[in-house]
Amino acid sequence: MFAHKKNASAFFLENYLKNIILALLMANYDDVINLSIRRSLFYPSSEIYKGPAGFYNYGPYGSAIKRKIVDLWRKNLVQKEGFLEINGSIAMPEDVFKASGHMTNFNDPVTKCKKCGAFHRADHLLKEKTGEDFKEAMSNEVLTNALRKNKIACPKCKGDLSDVSKLNMMVKVDVGVTPKNVYLRPETCQTIFTDFSRMMKTMRLKLPQGVSQCGKSFRNEISPRQTILRTVEFDQMETEIFFDAEKINEIESWEEVKNYKVCVQLAGKDKVEQINCVDLVKKKIVSGQVIAYYLARTQQLYESYGFNKENIRFRQLDNEERAFYAKEAWDFEVKTSLGWLELIANNYRTDYDLANHANGSKENLNYVYPDGKKVLPHVWEISIGVDRTFYAVVENSLKILNDKTVLSLPTSLAPLHAAVFPLVTNKEEVVNKAKEVMQKLNYLDVVYDDSGSVGKRYARMDEVGVPYCITIDHQTVEDNTVTIRDRDTTEQKRVKIEEISKKMHDLLWMNKSFKEI
Ligand SMILES: [Zn+2]
Repeated sequence: MFAHKKNASAFFLENYLKNIILALLMANYDDVINLSIRRSLFYPSSEIYKGPAGFYNYGPYGSAIKRKIVDLWRKNLVQKEGFLEINGSIAMPEDVFKASGHMTNFNDPVTKCKKCGAFHRADHLLKEKTGEDFKEAMSNEVLTNALRKNKIACPKCKGDLSDVSKLNMMVKVDVGVTPKNVYLRPETCQTIFTDFSRMMKTMRLKLPQGVSQCGKSFRNEISPRQTILRTVEFDQMETEIFFDAEKINEIESWEEVKNYKVCVQLAGKDKVEQINCVDLVKKKIVSGQVIAYYLARTQQLYESYGFNKENIRFRQLDNEERAFYAKEAWDFEVKTSLGWLELIANNYRTDYDLANHANGSKENLNYVYPDGKKVLPHVWEISIGVDRTFYAVVENSLKILNDKTVLSLPTSLAPLHAAVFPLVTNKEEVVNKAKEVMQKLNYLDVVYDDSGSVGKRYARMDEVGVPYCITIDHQTVEDNTVTIRDRDTTEQKRVKIEEISKKMHDLLWMNKSFKEI
């Protein structure tokens, strides 16, 4: 009994110390930006010409990490759930956005400086000045009065600000071949709605059915800021799950998630609770099993991105915050140094989109059961911001101690699986052995690096999240062994070249620890 108690307190002490050390290592927004600029994870677009604000490029390591975020989404959500993934064009005709409501409703509240002419988001100015929760959905009158009451002036020149008005956020493009007005899509999901009838006809679609798309969207942000967190051009991974509203409590793999706990913060509450899927439905917190099921699957995806349950939540939106078409909405947020950051909009859009597109296009968008029964499907939307997820993943993985920076990405998100270093470059035998190792690992994403001291090479790879470095030295020539170094512990192990391929396989895909291999 006593021994057990002692073990338990030792365990708590160890965990307590571990948490303190982790907290000391935690990175903030500036650390992420510094790393990004130094290692070209992301940086301003058209930099040498000082391009417009709100556009960013991803460099070699950044785009590899971003691609792997998308790959994991595709593997863990899209493919596992049997969703159909499409890849549509970015420019779409005005008709689409008339039907979707974007031409009339997709507006931001703005105020214009009477002196310097700059536009500002009224809700953002108010939030920054007062710390209160001003929302973009608030009326022009409410926001104008608040600007006056708080005596807010132009942040650029201190000039007087105009009354608040709504500005449409659609980006219009000039396409020569069509007389129709054409816009860049403000969200990828509109292609999914316009392609729904084609999917029904050609893809043997059965409800419930998810259709997904990953790609670019554009919004005329008046005040792009915080680098990749608020941009004009951005990437989304979106899924629309079409289901029969009468069958909202029929979902095939319910057993797999029913006891899984989802982190939710109910509207009006200030605490995050962990509630299992059965209770979410039973207590009518969500409209039905379809929704609880996909909240669980979405949270599981973010756990695979390396987030702990303590740092994530689905925040329930109240009537005032919800988009007008949404019957139920949950923002998925993660805790960052900037506060809770919204990464995903989850919306129960009912039949709003299909009804409007059926009306706008005169196409019949009903789903027809084999017995002839027709329904207009309802939609559960999972709309993920890729760039914001990228930021949150990097901040969550970044550890800084003195001048040592390590990006402890989950292996599945690492830009490369390994780096291969010949210790010296002036010995042909060493270089040849290094090339032999490269050959053995040609099924992985591996880089060959022979410039600078080995210490500098390790540091470069640690900073961009490469989990393993393999070094070929003088001993390799004698006994055909190389060292593998673990990024997070800096532990090293000697292994035979014949076994390097299997060892890497065990580390990367068999979930074996460095000690076990
Ligand atoms: Zn001004």
